[in-house]
Parts: sequence; structure tokens; C-alpha cells
Amino acid sequence: MMMTSFAYDALPMHVRFGPGSVQNLAEEITRLGLRRVLVLCSPEQSETGELIAKALGDLSAGVHPEARMHVPVEVARHARDRAAELDADGCVAVGGGSAVGLGKAIALEHGLPVVAVPTTYAGSEMTPVWGLTENGRKRTGKDPRVLPVGVVYDPELTVGLPIGMTVTSGLNAIAHAVEALYAPDASPIISLMAEEGIRALAGALPDLVADNADLEARTRALYGSWLCGACLGATTMSLHHKLCHVLGGTLDLPHAPTHAVVLPHALAYNQQAAPDAAAAVGRALGSADPALELWELAGRLGAPRALRDLGMAEPDIDRIAGQVVANPYANPAPVTQDGVAALLRAAWAGQSPAA
Ligand code: NAD
Repeated sequence: MMMTSFAYDALPMHVRFGPGSVQNLAEEITRLGLRRVLVLCSPEQSETGELIAKALGDLSAGVHPEARMHVPVEVARHARDRAAELDADGCVAVGGGSAVGLGKAIALEHGLPVVAVPTTYAGSEMTPVWGLTENGRKRTGKDPRVLPVGVVYDPELTVGLPIGMTVTSGLNAIAHAVEALYAPDASPIISLMAEEGIRALAGALPDLVADNADLEARTRALYGSWLCGACLGATTMSLHHKLCHVLGGTLDLPHAPTHAVVLPHALAYNQQAAPDAAAAVGRALGSADPALELWELAGRLGAPRALRDLGMAEPDIDRIAGQVVANPYANPAPVTQDGVAALLRAAWAGQSPAA
């Protein structure tokens, strides 16, 4: 491998991984010097939240099952008030990016440390990035205070993740690693994690489609998701994430399925301009054309492959392309109106990226 110059910051956090590791959560909280934590989760996972609070006993200040996608400001405000009323000195966020995002919103305002217990493959637990949505607009920012101080990865908690969400969330994670490989701030350690993360997830997802409750495959998938999340936390994302952010924010398309559809097309767009990154993705997937292989993998996994099936209308193609090119950002291939519109047209129609 050709070694170029790079800079790298390690993010400080403690990770515990393994089936049954949630049983060590109390020990983890005590080790971090916390005495009274508020358990955060989505309403759909309130049962899991209650079980975790019960297991924490006196270390739990209660359960707040009100996390919502994209962290609406009203939801963040209510959770902050609840944490203050209950005199919590930290939060345990159990769930996907929405629960972790709510913990981050509290940390941003009150500085309460977050311990994350991820149950999807979104990867937010590994990043210092927060998001808040007000009047239909999502603001995001980076702040080291919102980076979880501890993360407990227990594959047993992911066994109940429905297969559709498993697949799209896994492809969402792979997207972090793909873009980390050609990021402007890429570094060799992150590239190793990215390749291994893609390999682990791409291997585990077909096994999970065959048997959603296969704990060994769940373990490999969560391991891959950890690595891909670390890639997201360490690098600056490019065209793919920008497209998904605009599609989600402007058209309200669902987060993980949008990533699943766009990824093969975004990689095809960049493949020639980023040959080392493409080679790494190719090694992880065992293919000389990784963009095409990602599209075929999505098909084999039963993932959505067309933006029109997610609710995007054809006339939105040019509007979204315009928004994406409006503010310049680093990307291996030049980001042009025509290029992005062509990418979106193929993704909208569900065409193969080779077409
Ligand atoms: P999510 O957290 O909204 O979860 C989707 C649904 O799945 C919820 O109803 C949740 O309760 C349920 N669920 C989660 N795990 C489950 C399980 N194991 N079994 C059964 N149900 C389960 O979805 P997500 O894709 O994890 O997160 C998306 C959000 O996270 C978006 O708002 C996105 O912008 C944000 N995000 C932020 C970052 C960051 O770095 N800040 C990174 C990735 C994602």
C-alpha cells in the first residue's frame, strides 16, 4: 500500500462487546462514576428500556421512552427537563440512532455523559455528531461532549431487529465505511477498520436473511457495525451521505432504506476517482466491481433498490441535485448538477449502477 501523509485523532471511549454484555451495564456505569442514570429509548422499545432500568436497580433514575427519529427539538427539551427533574447524572441510550441522538441532545445542553447500548447498526454511538430538527430543518454539529463515554454492544439485543431493518441498517453502516475509505481525512487505521467492517457485515447479512435470530451472525454484524461506526466518527463523509441527508431532510425519505438505495450509485460515481478505496471495498466484497456488487447484494438481501419505491417523485430529481451541488464539499469525483442528476435518476428508477 502507498503510504501518504495523514492525521488521526483517537476518540476516547470504553467499549464492551459480546453476547450477554448488557449484564455488565451496572458495572460499566459505576466504573464511569455515575450514580443515577436516565434510560432513554424509543416508545417501541419501552419494554427493553424497562428491563434495563430494572436490572440497574438504584442506579436507574427512570425510563424516558420518547426518542424520535431526527431528534425534534420539543422531544429534546422534554427529555432535558425530565433528566433535570429526576436529578440524573448521566443517560443510558438503548436503541438505534434515535435513542442515542436523544442522549446526545441532553449531553449538548446539560453535559450529562451518555452510555450507549446500540440495538441497530446505525453507528451514532461512535460519533461526536449531534442532530436536532426544528420546523422541518435538521441542524447538525460536532461536539466532543456528545460522544458516548461508554458503549455496550450486546448482540442478543439485536436478535429482535426485524429483518428489513436489519438489512437496511447494515447497508447504512457499510456506507460509513465506504465513504471513510475515500474521505479527505482518511487514515490507514480507519481504512483497516472500514475494510474489515464491510467484510463482516456483508458476510453476516445473508446469514441473517436466512435466520434472523442466528446469534453468531448477529455478533458478526454488530462487530461490523462497531467498526463502520468508528469510521463514521473519525472521518468526513462525502457525496453519499450528503445525498441521503438532503433526501431525508427535504423529502422525508426513511434514513436507512435511503442509504441502502443510494450507496451503490454513490460508489459507482466515485469508483474511478478513488481507485484505492474501490479496491478495498472490492477486497471486502470479493468483487472487481464493488458498486455493482453492492447493488446485487442489496437485491439478494431483499433491500429496496429504487428511490421511487421510498416515495420520491421523478420531478424531485433535479431539485435534489441542485441542493446537493449548492454547497461544495470534498468528494473524490467532481460534484456536478448533471452527474448528480444522472446518479439520482438511476437510483430513482432502481437501475443497476452499471447501466
Ligand atoms: P431508529 O433509532 O429510529 O430505530 C428505528 C426503529 O427501530 C425504532 O422504532 C426503534 O425503537 C426500533 N428498534 C431499534 N432497535 C431495535 C431492535 N433491536 N429490535 C426491535 N426494534 C428496534 O433508527 P436508526 O436507523 O438506528 O437511526 C436513525 C437515526 O439516527 C436518524 O435520525 C439518523 O440521522 C441518526 N444517526 C445519527 C448518527 C450520528 O452520528 N449523529 C449516525 C447514524 C444515524
